[in-house]
This record gives sequence, C-alpha cells and structure tokens, in this order.
Amino acid sequence: MVAKIIDGKQIAQQLRNEMKEEVTQLKQRKITPHLTVILIGDDPASHSYVNGKERASKEVGISSEIIKMPTETTESELIQTITTLNENEEVHGILVQLPLPEHINEQRIIEAIDPKKDVDGFHPTNIGRMIVRKKSFLPCTPYGIIKLLQFENIPIEGKHVVVIGRSNIVGKPMGQLLLNENATVTYCHSRTKDIRELTKQADIIIVAIGKANVIDASYIKEGAVVIDVGVNRTESGILTGDVNFEAVKKLASFITPVPGGVGPMTITMLLRNTIKAAKGLNEN
Ligand code: NAP
Repeated sequence: MVAKIIDGKQIAQQLRNEMKEEVTQLKQRKITPHLTVILIGDDPASHSYVNGKERASKEVGISSEIIKMPTETTESELIQTITTLNENEEVHGILVQLPLPEHINEQRIIEAIDPKKDVDGFHPTNIGRMIVRKKSFLPCTPYGIIKLLQFENIPIEGKHVVVIGRSNIVGKPMGQLLLNENATVTYCHSRTKDIRELTKQADIIIVAIGKANVIDASYIKEGAVVIDVGVNRTESGILTGDVNFEAVKKLASFITPVPGGVGPMTITMLLRNTIKAAKGLNEN
C-alpha cells in the first residue's frame, strides 16, 4: 500500500476561498473582522509565524494589526495592553504569540484575554466549553486536523486513535476533539511504557512530539492514517516532521507531509475563529 498524501496546503486554500466570500458578506453588514496579534521580543521563528498570520488574514480580507513589544515588557504591562484590547469593540480576536519571555507567566496571560476574543482557543473557559461540548473557540491545530480528516472523508467514529503528545495546545485538545467525534482515544507521552504496542493497534495516529523522525514504520499498522504535527529543523536547515515520511507512507493509507500538511490548516483555523468572533457566535 502507498499512502495518499493529504495536501493540507490545497485544503487550506479551499477553505480560505470560502472564508473570503464570508468576509465580503460581513463587510456588507459593516462588520470587518479584526485580529490583533501581540508579539513580544525578537525571536525569529515567532516573527515569521506572526507575519504568516498577517499575510493569511489579508488574503481573506480580515483586518489585522501586530503590536510589537520589547523583551523587557513586564507581565503587568502586557496584561494592561490585553485589557485595553478586551475593551475595544473593534477588536474581535486577540492572540499573544507564544512562547513568552521567561519572566512572564504564560497561563496568566492566556487568562487575561476575554474568552470571547480568544481566537487561539487556549483560555480555560474555552477549553472547558469544548469538553462539555458547548460552542467555543477550538484550538487551531487540533481543529485543523479534524477538518483535514473530514475533508478526506476519513471516518473518526468508533476508530481507535492514538495521540502522541499531551501539550495543552496540541495533544490534550486533540484527544478531546476526537472523543467528541466518538473516537476511542489513547494518549501517549514521554512516560508511556510501550508506545509501539499501542500505535500498532491504532486506526489513526496523531504525532505531536517535536522530535525529528521518531516514528518509523515499525509503529504503524498497515492501512493506518498518520497525521504528523511535528515541525523540526534538521542541522542542514530542512523542515521535517516527527514521522519518517518515506518509510511510513509505504504502509499507511493516508499521511500528512511536513511542510504542507497540518501547518497551513493551523493558520486557516485561526482565520475561521476570527470570523466567528466577529459574528459573535460564541454567545451561547
Ligand atoms: P510540547 O509542548 O513540547 O509537547 C511535546 C509532547 O511530546 C509532550 O507531551 C511530551 O511528553 C511528548 N514527548 C516528547 N518526547 C516524546 C517521546 N520520545 N515519546 C513520546 N512522547 C514524547 O510540544 P507541542 O507544542 O505539543 O508541539 C509538538 C510539535 O508540534 C512541535 O514540533 C511543534 O513545533 C509542532 N507544532 C506544529 C503546529 C503546526 O501548526 N504544524 C502547531 C503546534 C505545534 P511529556 O508531556 O511527558 O513531556
């Protein structure tokens, strides 16, 4: 078997074209979705992510603004900026680019954002609402992965999904969203005893570890669907996932490449959440 390569870039483009239409209609009602991104310090990767978010926003007609603050910014200064944005009715979405400098407590910053403007979906209110299946902003990466699976007509209900990684932004919400879609979910992490024994039973494997090429063909059941969230840079500067793509694609039924798989979907779902925030769909 040779896997079908899931083209996240193309699927993301299709969704963005649909969003463009939606934004045009909103503008006719005098609503222009607006996203404000706060960027602290001068980490090149963060700058590049933020620029990507701005470009993508423009592409669909969302107005966006980047507030750049120096590394020395204090936690209370940052919270003050967020509070002002919370009160500004023209700002629909607020995103603080992570990671933050060490002297700033990430969780306190996430919790300072009004949950109705939390387009990253990281606020505990949104996470809680996701768990009890009320309307909420869903974390962009797991949300994008659900969209990829649905787009490819890959059934989730009743399937055994193994999620490797349990971060608050990827692994944990990923498992929860899959559970909401009636999958049976197993979480693996750095303390799991025998990951291979579990992944060998999985119909769908989601890998979000952050280490290049740790998942090879010996972890995969023939015909499994393999979603690679990892983004790693090799010594020669090449981007690579957590999965050994060449080996695993010979066994899997579907596989996402890195780059061009999950990544484009993450930004796309941020745009979706911003449009949703502008529409006020998070009210109930
Ligand atoms: P993270 O916070 O570092 O979490 C990594 C998780 O992997 C942890 O739960 C850790 O276990 C687990 N882990 C580490 N080594 C392992 C091993 N050898 N075997 C099994 N589990 C192991 O990372 P993250 O934020 O979730 O991101 C994961 C990867 O996805 C990164 O490469 C990141 O760049 C990428 N990412 C991509 C996108 C995208 O849009 N494409 C978005 C977000 C993140 P413990 O909890 O036990 O430490």
